[in-house]
Amino acid sequence: MNQIQRRHSLPVRIGDIVVGGDAPVRVQSMTNTDTADIDSTVAQVAELARAGSELVRLTVNNESAAAAVPRIRDALAAQGVEVPLIGDFHFNGHRLLSDYPACAEALAKYRINPGNVGRGEKKDSQFATMVEIACRYDRPVRIGVNWGSLDPELVARMMDANAKSAAPKPAEAMMIEAMVESALGSARRAEELGLPRDHIILSCKMSGVQDLIRVYRALAPRSDHALHLGLTEAGMGSKGIVASTAALAVLLQEGIGDTIRVSLTPEPGESRSREIIVAQEILQTMGLRPFVPMVAACPGCGRTTSTVFQELARDIQAYLREQMPNWRERYPGVEQMQVAVMGCVVNGPGESKHANIGISLPGTGEQPSAPVFIDGEKAVTLKGADIAAQFKRMVDDYVIGHYGRDA
Ligand code: SF4
Repeated sequence: MNQIQRRHSLPVRIGDIVVGGDAPVRVQSMTNTDTADIDSTVAQVAELARAGSELVRLTVNNESAAAAVPRIRDALAAQGVEVPLIGDFHFNGHRLLSDYPACAEALAKYRINPGNVGRGEKKDSQFATMVEIACRYDRPVRIGVNWGSLDPELVARMMDANAKSAAPKPAEAMMIEAMVESALGSARRAEELGLPRDHIILSCKMSGVQDLIRVYRALAPRSDHALHLGLTEAGMGSKGIVASTAALAVLLQEGIGDTIRVSLTPEPGESRSREIIVAQEILQTMGLRPFVPMVAACPGCGRTTSTVFQELARDIQAYLREQMPNWRERYPGVEQMQVAVMGCVVNGPGESKHANIGISLPGTGEQPSAPVFIDGEKAVTLKGADIAAQFKRMVDDYVIGHYGRDA
């Protein structure tokens, strides 16, 4: 793994998970079920946790949702799923947390959006209520500022002061300043109310890549709070993945970010856990944290006119990911394994030699044989109609032989 110098941040304990400090960058996600629908929410949280989400956020938007939270926590525990649950509160969080103490107790962390706590005089008291409950239950809080719901009173005040200053800054710069001030000012207020400094995580989410990079570059040096990163409203499919990766990669490379979420809009019927896979792949391909053995595959070209090679690359990657819940315990270190699936003799042997185990499939017109390389040495040449199955067995043998406790 590479040597990115991480920004210093205070470690924050959330249930059994630590975010910030020396902890690895954490992956989190959020459900999109109706929280009051206990069965659906339990199923989705379990799916996200099994996919690797280390923290799962739920919206707690009404009384039914607040009443459901402890039952969701208990149902998950009965399945052996102990992932910390985070409550996402807007507008009525002060009331829900006060009226549903079992909800306040069941949640491992509260997310407070300072722009949606209340207006006018109520804002301070409602914010204070939530923080006092966090203190009472010894729960950390994320002060989660969002571009789309930035506190309008704060913006108006800062814009006004800027307009009267001798050298007014552009409106765009002031917006970044307002995001940062909303996060830092709310954190200061939470500390004044008694919330320990190491119980606070900050985030400033924006939907534009350059805006997100700018706001975190402004925020990071002004605080030692752990930071949660995410491009909000990233979008669907490849656009959401590319935009999130572009923004998060720049910040992570600069050592900024203690926990990340990739906010993808799922295609209808698509699994919610795709965002976990993308978040893990960002961290792993950047060399920050290994999760699953990675498959290097060539893109294919006119030398690979059949789909055999594409199918093997896809099947092997899916197979490796499927095995991980079992392998993680039995074969420590297996997540660092590199597998190569190459389409022909041009780059196949060379790339395969760099992997722990690699196969170079026959391109169009080549002999129907596939050399397999293990730790840089040619081990065998596979032949026949079931090359894919033979290679999968060799991957299994490699894992057992190299990562098993007796290896
Ligand atoms: S390794 Fe062979 S099949 Fe793959 S892209 Fe290169 S030339 Fe094409």
